[in-house]
Amino acid sequence: MQITPVETAEHEEVYRVEDREAGLTGFIAVHSTRLGPAAGGLRMRVYRSDAEALDDVLRLSRGMTFKNAAAGLPLGGGKAVIMGDPARAKTPALLRAMGRAVDTLAGRYWTAEDMGMTTADMAVIAGETAFVAGLSGGDFASGDPSPVTARGVFNAVRCAVRHRLGRADLDGLTVAVQGLGNVGWHLAGLLHGDGARLIVTDIDAGRVARAVAEWSAEAIAEDMIYGAGADVFAPCAIGGILNARTIPDLRVAVVAGGANNQLATDEDGIRLQERGILYAPDFVANGGGIINVAAEILRVGNRAAWVAAKLTALDQTMEAILRAAAAEGTGPNAVAERIVAERMAAVAA
Ligand code: NAD
Repeated sequence: MQITPVETAEHEEVYRVEDREAGLTGFIAVHSTRLGPAAGGLRMRVYRSDAEALDDVLRLSRGMTFKNAAAGLPLGGGKAVIMGDPARAKTPALLRAMGRAVDTLAGRYWTAEDMGMTTADMAVIAGETAFVAGLSGGDFASGDPSPVTARGVFNAVRCAVRHRLGRADLDGLTVAVQGLGNVGWHLAGLLHGDGARLIVTDIDAGRVARAVAEWSAEAIAEDMIYGAGADVFAPCAIGGILNARTIPDLRVAVVAGGANNQLATDEDGIRLQERGILYAPDFVANGGGIINVAAEILRVGNRAAWVAAKLTALDQTMEAILRAAAAEGTGPNAVAERIVAERMAAVAA
């Protein structure tokens, strides 16, 4: 196994990890441990080059610093990536090799599931390191974080709707949901339960059909979701979908969803603001999942009560961000990044 440090400007530690015998090439990035040990998931996907994988791990680990701070967790930001197709290249030997690499950081980085990983994979990694969470068995196991993520996103939708539409619930409002996977499916159920009408899309036709059958949702083609006339757009699939091409098409008052990195660039936050669309910053809206994982890392005793209290605090943080954004006439994303930076500076002082 070769673990090679990579020099970067902003991150505390970054390593390229290679184990030829196990077929592993990947990166581990610790952006910040100012608030505590860095925590963030392990992603496996096809990357075209080392540079692309490195760019992803740097961006994602920085995002985790902001997400963990916004969620009020004593955790810093980190992330790991494995280069390769999880459907074809994921083997126990490869996972064990990554587990050994994570272990060399001696707890400065904690891993968990991200795209391409399952709770079963985390169990394999746990054979090599104690610094892994998102397990389905064991004393503090937290399992699948998606229902908690969806609950936090649902709270964010309601918070943004209160601000922009002055409505206390979603009864009779329409929400366009992009992606009916782990998060989107749970979210759609909560929205339906609150009286919202649903417009849905997914590249998996079976999921769309189930949503139509279960909630009388209106199905819409993938590329039509941006122009769907609705009160709220909830992106729950891929990143970068709020951009110069899609924002002019939006016909909603609010964007609030679970997907990571929804804004393609910072400028797109300004574009939404200029169009009068209220954007609930994604790294605050989707913090429920890491709260759930944090209960495992921090070995919290009364996990249900602790997670509920952290979700309430997250909701209050969103409320404070949207209130400050309205008072200042600034985009909520910029306000959220500033509030989080202030929190981190206060801890450092
Ligand atoms: P998932 O893979 O279970 O679901 C994603 C869904 O989106 C799938 O059903 C997929 O078919 C669909 N999809 C993919 N591309 C699409 C497209 N172009 N148009 C429409 N649908 C498309 O993933 P997930 O765990 O539900 O995560 C969804 C998003 O939320 C991701 O961005 C993820 O990083 C983020 N997130 C997830 C969690 C969590 O707890 N799972 C926590 C925080 C953030």
